[in-house]
Amino acid sequence: MHRIRAVCAVLVFALVAIFFVPMVVFNITGMPADFPVVTVYDRGTAVQEMTSAHTVGELLYEMGMTLAGNDRINYPLDFPLYNDMTVRIYREISFYVTINTGLPKRMTAISGTTVEEVLVQTQAEIQATLLYANDITREIDPLDMLNFVTWQTRQFTETNEIPFETIENLTGAMRNGQTHLRRRGSNGEHEITTMVVYIGGYEDSRVIVNEYILREPVDAIFNIGTAPMGALTDPSDPDFRYVRRVRLQATAYCACFLCTGRNPEDALFGVTASGRRVEHGIVAVDRTVFPLGTRFYVAGYGFAEAADVGGAIRGYMIDLFMYCHQEALRFGRRYVDVWVLH
Ligand SMILES: [Zn+2]
Repeated sequence: MHRIRAVCAVLVFALVAIFFVPMVVFNITGMPADFPVVTVYDRGTAVQEMTSAHTVGELLYEMGMTLAGNDRINYPLDFPLYNDMTVRIYREISFYVTINTGLPKRMTAISGTTVEEVLVQTQAEIQATLLYANDITREIDPLDMLNFVTWQTRQFTETNEIPFETIENLTGAMRNGQTHLRRRGSNGEHEITTMVVYIGGYEDSRVIVNEYILREPVDAIFNIGTAPMGALTDPSDPDFRYVRRVRLQATAYCACFLCTGRNPEDALFGVTASGRRVEHGIVAVDRTVFPLGTRFYVAGYGFAEAADVGGAIRGYMIDLFMYCHQEALRFGRRYVDVWVLH
């Protein structure tokens, strides 16, 4: 009796084991409840699998999938599977790429799984930098027609003039309406290197990459008189500005042959050492004493500028231009007070 009871207990245990354990461990698909569900994308379709495989490689084997050539996958083959995992297979595809160079479009047969791979291969083949308008990390499919555009640069260097500025220096030491060129201006020169970017063979933009000044421009300086006519002709005026006052031995000359050694037929008749034509206010000096361009106020003569030289004019002397030879003779030789204005 005890023996029969023991056998029954074993049978009941066996029945429980056969009927109930599977119900706990396996779900209705016949698979363990904790087996992962994995989605596999390949060739444009998605397949959802519950699998007993442990790694990505085992899963592919179980599904009869193989990788060939440059096909890629988003996990290493020994990566452990987990629930809700998405495995993507990128199949290498061969197709034509068009390259827009600005010339008739060229086609080239290239293979790859992403736009970037195709771009890199195409660049190596045509030895040029290429642009793609959209996302280059995008996976490609067999229906894609990739259109690349060439990106090229060219640099050129040119020299240009820098125009000089004209500075007007207003001065009360000169009469209104009088102008005097103190310094001639000259243009500068700069060298500019420009980079031009061509996209698809057409100029897209240009940028200055280097600018080098070969020669600075020199400003022209004009003195412009602001003193009203009749004003400031008296050095006793408190507004009269000067650098120093000197007493000089003065003579006078005119443009005639006796005074200058030139006839009116001569090309240089009436032309002073500074290049200016004679007029009232032009005086000859010893340029080691007064540089040409020095301005004076000469008592009894008025405003004057050192613009000429003469063989007999040495040291602290001044030779005043007059229009008439008789007038110059009458002036003779005398001491005059001279205010050096600058
Ligand atoms: Zn003369």
